[in-house]
Amino acid sequence: MKKLKEAKSAGFEVFPTQLGFFPYLWLIYMSLPVINMLSEEGWKMGIGFALIGLFLVTYRQLYFAAGTPRFFAWLGIQMSIIFILCMWYHPTYMYMGFFTANFIGWYTDRRKFTLSLVLFGIIETVPLIKNASLLGWKDLVFMIPFFLIMLFSPFGIRSLNRRQELERELAQANEQIRNLIKGEERMRIARDLHDTLGHTLSLITLKSQLMEKLAAKDPVKAQLEAREIQNTSRAALRQVRELVSDMRTATLPEELLEAQIILESADIELVSTGNPKLEGISDLAHNILSLCLREAVTNVVKHSQASQCRIDIESLDNEWRLLVADNGIGLKGKDDGASGSNGLKGMAERLSLIGGTIEAVSEPQGTKLNIRVPIIIKNRKEDTTHEHQSADSRGPANAARRSGFLA
Ligand code: ADP
Ligand code: CA
Repeated sequence: MKKLKEAKSAGFEVFPTQLGFFPYLWLIYMSLPVINMLSEEGWKMGIGFALIGLFLVTYRQLYFAAGTPRFFAWLGIQMSIIFILCMWYHPTYMYMGFFTANFIGWYTDRRKFTLSLVLFGIIETVPLIKNASLLGWKDLVFMIPFFLIMLFSPFGIRSLNRRQELERELAQANEQIRNLIKGEERMRIARDLHDTLGHTLSLITLKSQLMEKLAAKDPVKAQLEAREIQNTSRAALRQVRELVSDMRTATLPEELLEAQIILESADIELVSTGNPKLEGISDLAHNILSLCLREAVTNVVKHSQASQCRIDIESLDNEWRLLVADNGIGLKGKDDGASGSNGLKGMAERLSLIGGTIEAVSEPQGTKLNIRVPIIIKNRKEDTTHEHQSADSRGPANAARRSGFLA
């Protein structure tokens, strides 16, 4: 059963606001019974209008009674009104049953649905049989298709509603999965922090306690210990940086902005073309490209001695392309970064996850990094979770990264 009850909370509403103008739109069809009723006279007309008025009340109430026991009561009143109007006024009032048919379709409970539908069938059919003589053959033939549509439409409406319900449930389940994944990610980070940093920090504490004792007795040994403490804390810093870079979900526009700041502070002019908002790219590919851009720019600042850096972001027919080029010293014989360093290798590894490639070209006038990622058509827009995550982790992540950037 549709859940429209929540809308009732604040003030009076004619119809549930979330349904928009539709409940009002259907009211147009009420003009037919109203016009019909004008042809009656005296008290019969009065009672007729009173019944139409009551019908409108049931129409409104049914929207709000969905899912409650009152729903059936209002439905019963509505059907009785149609029955009375069809029996003692004119069989054409049966068209008011289109309203009822819609509401019957709202039943998810099979038993109640069938019961209402049978009742509906009776109140629609009996007057038609009784008053068949009032109508000519022509009228009857004209009415029958509408009659059938009315009787069968609840099935269609019901399955439509059920589909919507299922879709909502699916969306809810997906949301739940996302939250679970987020929770899992937090647990992992907490565990990693405890396992790696907890250990390193207690090591530092122990060593500095030792150094305190040694300082007076054996200054040379104390010096050695101090150096070890330095090494350990540097390692800890590196661990934090790794953890943080694992955590952070980057986006290209953010990363491009970041690149501009970093290059500017290193006195390297940035020339960038293309739109970093890649349409329809998957979250994973987006994240990987952003991390590549970050690493590439870091390399330009660290190694290139360039005065200018170019970043082009293109989306071609079947691939996204990210070009990072500088006018520095070139790769100095290192053609792929396989020799011990992780930056270029890491990029290649990450890219291979999404079928992407990286090509590092050393030219007399600098280094050129060509990154390509094939475009895979996605048919479902992914969630926006990463935006929350990046918003969460961005501040400290950046601070950590900037402070240790050139270390
Ligand atoms: P790391 O950053 O740890 O040095 P990388 O894999 O990122 O490792 O880079 C490998 C090596 O390639 C670097 O040590 C550097 O010598 C060289 N390199 C990378 N990018 C550039 C660049 N833009 N200009 C000059 N040399 C570069
Ligand atoms: Ca690097």
